[in-house]
Amino acid sequence: MSSNYLENNPDEKGFFGKFGGSFIPPMLEEPFAKITQTYNELKNDPKFIEDLKYVRKHYQGRPTPISYAKNLTNYCGGAKIYLKREDLNHSGAHKLNHCMAEVILAKHMGFKKVIAETGAGQHGVALATAAAYFGLECEIHMGEVDIAKEHPNVVRMKILGAKVIPATHGLKTLKEAVDSAFESYVGQADTAIYCIGSVVGPHPFPMMVRDFQSIVGIEAKEQFAEHENGAMPDNIVACVGGGSNAMGIFAPFIDEDSVELYGVEPLGRGEGLGNHAATLTYGEEGVMHGFNSIMLKDENGDPAPVYSIGSGIDYPSVGPEHAHLKDIGRTKVGLCDDKEAVDAFYKLSQLEGIIPALESAHAVGFAMKLASQLPKDKTILINLSGRGDKDIDFVVENHPIPNAKF
Ligand SMILES: *Cc1c(COP(=O)(O)O)cnc(C)c1O
Repeated sequence: MSSNYLENNPDEKGFFGKFGGSFIPPMLEEPFAKITQTYNELKNDPKFIEDLKYVRKHYQGRPTPISYAKNLTNYCGGAKIYLKREDLNHSGAHKLNHCMAEVILAKHMGFKKVIAETGAGQHGVALATAAAYFGLECEIHMGEVDIAKEHPNVVRMKILGAKVIPATHGLKTLKEAVDSAFESYVGQADTAIYCIGSVVGPHPFPMMVRDFQSIVGIEAKEQFAEHENGAMPDNIVACVGGGSNAMGIFAPFIDEDSVELYGVEPLGRGEGLGNHAATLTYGEEGVMHGFNSIMLKDENGDPAPVYSIGSGIDYPSVGPEHAHLKDIGRTKVGLCDDKEAVDAFYKLSQLEGIIPALESAHAVGFAMKLASQLPKDKTILINLSGRGDKDIDFVVENHPIPNAKF
């Protein structure tokens, strides 16, 4: 393992090993090259760093704490479980970490408008929040199915001043939302910028979003040491849709060989194409949405239909860096199905007083299985990517509250 992983990855063309890169229409090459160039300048610019630090501390609510989940630990009966509380970010998830930075970049480049896709609505809400704060227009594309399922987030985006455009083709979920947003962006790339919602898309987005999210891991390293006498976690667990919250907490630990890194994929209803979104587990190499990665393909080689109870993690590809880190054996992939995620959703709520997002509940569900197999002197740090307010109606309607007292 190279001792300088982050400095050496990606290469200047945006490749993490064979994954990543930029596969875009010729007309987008110049706008993307300009974004790359601006980002490379800005990331070392003291004013940019200062602006970002300021909003994180005084607006967003950073640093977010690490909580020891004592009751959940006792329940599982094994390794100690800690939670990095990204649910406590303003707007309810880790997404604001990259949205604030992307909008500062957009403003610096003179754009008037930000465009993006959203799955569960969290990226849309975070981007609408950042756009409102910095005074830019915001256009969000969202699958019709997700619009129905995540109604409160749709209302939040509209209240925040964003325009919400339904994606009405195909399965009407996250992949179609990306198609729709990309199409809209192509027509207005001179006045607007596409703010991708995860560590996916063409270069430089997987690198940029990782860098913006790495604050999660940087804080976690210091905070965890405070809890555990200067030690590092033995295991880090995060859910993986596109993979931004996972890359954020993994990044500063990649060179720490003693720390096991687990990305958890949604197994949905179980094995079989169309029942899950476990891309790294069942996928194969392929290009989609402008980057080369591991992808779930149908019989024609097109993106396969995917499913998960977590709307923010049902995506048929995955961030290229996750494909690379798995390829070189640095990360492991965990699985959590719908049922285990719902169980974890209620367990964390009833044992710790924290209602997790359904996406984050996948990390919790896998960590519970892992904890019960490990001795009590081992530790697990979960990235609790978001809070579950957006999911409560859907969960309660479909999965009755266990041990309901009323
Ligand atoms: C969007 C979202 C995710 C999935 O996105 P990643 O890029 O894979 O992190 C996970 N958890 C929550 C709460 C989200 O809003």
